[in-house]
Amino acid sequence: MAVAVKGNTYGLYIDGEYGVPRDAKTLPVINPATGEEWATIVDASAADVDAAVRAAQRAFEGAWGATTPGARARLMHKLADAIEARASELAEIEVRDNGKLLREMGAQLKAIPGWYRYFAGLADKIEGETIPMERPTLFNFTLREPLGVVGFVTPWNSPLLILAFTAAPALAAGNCIVLKPSEFASVSSLEFAKCFEAAGFPKGVFNVVTGSGAVAGDALTRHAGVARIAFTGSAATGARVAAAAAGHYASVGLELGGKSPHIVFADANLDAAIPGLLSGIFAAGGQTCIAGSRALVQREIYDEVQRRLLERTRSIKIGDPFLAETEMGPMANEPQLKKVESYVEVAKSDGARLVTGGGRPSTAALQRGYFFEPTIFADVRNEMRIAREEVFGPILSIIPFSDEAEALRIANDTMYGLGSGIWTSDIGRAIRMARGIKAGTVWVNTYRAISYQMPFGGYKASGIGRENGIEAIRDYTQTKSVWIETEPVAGDPFAIKV
Ligand code: NDP
Repeated sequence: MAVAVKGNTYGLYIDGEYGVPRDAKTLPVINPATGEEWATIVDASAADVDAAVRAAQRAFEGAWGATTPGARARLMHKLADAIEARASELAEIEVRDNGKLLREMGAQLKAIPGWYRYFAGLADKIEGETIPMERPTLFNFTLREPLGVVGFVTPWNSPLLILAFTAAPALAAGNCIVLKPSEFASVSSLEFAKCFEAAGFPKGVFNVVTGSGAVAGDALTRHAGVARIAFTGSAATGARVAAAAAGHYASVGLELGGKSPHIVFADANLDAAIPGLLSGIFAAGGQTCIAGSRALVQREIYDEVQRRLLERTRSIKIGDPFLAETEMGPMANEPQLKKVESYVEVAKSDGARLVTGGGRPSTAALQRGYFFEPTIFADVRNEMRIAREEVFGPILSIIPFSDEAEALRIANDTMYGLGSGIWTSDIGRAIRMARGIKAGTVWVNTYRAISYQMPFGGYKASGIGRENGIEAIRDYTQTKSVWIETEPVAGDPFAIKV
């Protein structure tokens, strides 16, 4: 590290200090609502990643490793306080980074301290066990120990919330972190590092290396000093990350994409279901892994649901994500906009019927940003690509069904299994469907709800492992078995003791 960091030129955050490595390449940070560059980040090299991992290792072997569970918990509460103090500022940075609404990011930032407080409460409850053995002279017990250095690769859609899912349990269990955020939205993570300083964490417990996935992300996932990789992003990159981690026997947690079915039965309360469907696909411009992108609608109400969806969708206010009245901001980056645009042609050529949207808004003020209209396709068949592939944008596919069995068959006919929604007033049906759906989360008469208390993760290609909830902390520990013979005797040296 050599060059001082100033203005909106961000360095890497390694060992408690910001710095730009000598001869570092940089990457522009673009505000997707305006298309303007507003900051610069470092395009880290593999050597920079190595420096961050080494700093984390030193912290783990040193000050952090010596910290008691109670002290860790107190620091995490101070971290939560520091996030609360800067919540508005961090939310605004996230809006400039990824174009999501201030009302959405403001709500996320208000909620994030809760993750750190919840897992702080678990820091002194990570208990081993005494094991009652068959041989009474043995006194056996287990210890649960931290892994060491863990590497996180986060995406651009909700960087700090997604980080909280993994950082909170990792810290509570006593690990050190190296984070590689998406090059499209890194600034909030760099600013977030200041909260660790404000809270008084030892240097090196939390490090941020920015840069491309292909270089910095790859170097982190391949680094032999990293004991676990937690990744959130696309299924294709997730598979690459898992292969890289396998190369040095690191464990992985993968939170990947989805093609979530959002099922509306004829007995549903449509006054609640219609806003539910809209929130499932148009909140965050559909740029969320839990987007309810396949609306499965029972035939009796198919026309009515279409009509009501169309009416509300046409009134969605697209625009400046900072304004309180805006309901949909831009796509988070140019490649994402291009990807969303391309799927309109894919859907049309497969025979889906465009009901509304399908292009960039014509409003003059929105031309420089990466805006895209909320879009609905009807008469979609589940075999069409628009119903099978993750778009990660504001495109809803409506698919008709006749009965529970057909709804379940269509819902489960996907490589993914992250979220799902059911709207019905029949409790028996809700329970049957919840049991039958192959997805990590089933929301009944609600959608897009998330909590640190509830396990979250995917079936099938939607991921490996669960974040949130008490069990999540186990992924950041490893079990040590301790055998103590209280009455040692010379046994047969050539036979295993069983
Ligand atoms: P990626 O899965 O490629 O990127 C996610 C994260 O992985 C980013 O930090 C990225 O860095 C990093 N990365 C990329 N390549 C590697 C690699 N070889 N080794 C380690 N890390 C890597 O998603 P994209 O941003 O390209 O988006 C493409 C699609 O992925 C979206 O359209 C959407 O379908 C899905 N997606 C899903 C998300 C989810 O929440 N489940 C979130 C984001 C995307 P960098 O951005 O710097 O390249």
